[in-house]
Amino acid sequence: MENLALLEKLSFERIAGSKEEYRAAMIIKEEIEKMGLNATLEPFEIEFPEEVTATFEITAPQNQSFEVTGVGMAGVTKGLEAPFYYGQDLDEISLSQMKGKIVLFNGALRYDSYKKIIQAGAVGFITFNGSVYDTEIEVEDRYLRPKLQELGKIPGVTMSIHDAQTLVRLNPTTVRLTVNAKESTRTSHNLVVTLPGDIEDEIICFSGHYDSVRHSKGVYDNATGALAVLDFLKYFSQKKPKRTLKFLWLGTEERGLIGATQYVKAHQETIDQYKLNINLDMLGVVLGKDIACVTGEEAITHYIDFVAKELNFAIKTSTGVYPSDSTPFADGGVPAITFARGAVVGGAQIHSKKDVIDFISVESFNQTVEFIQAFASRVIEAEVCPIPSTMPKKMLEELDDYLLRKIAE
Ligand SMILES: [Zn+2]
Repeated sequence: MENLALLEKLSFERIAGSKEEYRAAMIIKEEIEKMGLNATLEPFEIEFPEEVTATFEITAPQNQSFEVTGVGMAGVTKGLEAPFYYGQDLDEISLSQMKGKIVLFNGALRYDSYKKIIQAGAVGFITFNGSVYDTEIEVEDRYLRPKLQELGKIPGVTMSIHDAQTLVRLNPTTVRLTVNAKESTRTSHNLVVTLPGDIEDEIICFSGHYDSVRHSKGVYDNATGALAVLDFLKYFSQKKPKRTLKFLWLGTEERGLIGATQYVKAHQETIDQYKLNINLDMLGVVLGKDIACVTGEEAITHYIDFVAKELNFAIKTSTGVYPSDSTPFADGGVPAITFARGAVVGGAQIHSKKDVIDFISVESFNQTVEFIQAFASRVIEAEVCPIPSTMPKKMLEELDDYLLRKIAE
């Protein structure tokens, strides 16, 4: 990256399946075409809640209404009035009080917490976001992921942490909520470039998601990763590579790694040829540290450490399942690495209005990109692919846990 101009150009809200997400794909496509290369768009459908509106009010002992957003793909109601309960923890005592009530609970919509609330017989729920130290809070648009929908749908709303605090202080007897929404589908896209290598049936693929969440211009998360993939394309298209290279700009990561999941599904017939996925998610932050999380054999971390020492590049390696697009590849049997430059606490904030260009530097971005390039070159050009293709049992178990196939009761 020579300067921040292209990052600036991609700095706008790019919600999955929106016309802005498509516009971002077109900006990237245009850059690819400037290199004299062709990109293919691979569309896929995603479920998307449309026209979600919601209200919430205390009805007794006194009336008071609050500003809320409705949780999409969850239940709808023209008006549900029920007793209120603050389920501060999902322990036995809290759960025993929830039956027939509208429950405020701490934390996000996780599978295990939602399951417990449903089983406890709650009829509606309230989540909240933000920090008590913030003066202005953007109430998040949340939606119920498919795995959670399977547990049963009850209507839910999200409010700011300030309102949640007020609600608990007032400790109302009864509350009322309404949620209206239409369940619809939208089209999102993956953008793909292929550089055929001498060994055609061994593929190394680079990926980075280019969608963002609501209220976020998604600069650090993840216009930076998308631009890194462009830089890799520019670099590796200079001469014919030994192994075939795929460059993927993936849509709809923020709603559950859907673009990557769709890609792996659509390319199932050739997925055995994929020897490594190098995924980029959040780079270039000035105050932070570089990490590489490997979903594959531990030997891959040693390989990265070796190259890092050779090149005098500080990076922390680990094995595990990373919450990004490397995971669907690993689940498809492809060893995968997510490279990221994690921000220090307070160094940059994602998934909010605060994810802007100010905390990113060209120098920081280029240092990481050049290291990954050097590492990838060794993998791409080696006589025998140095990446072990096996997936350790521990990784398979972690994938099962992460993808909610094996839920602890
Ligand atoms: Zn991301």
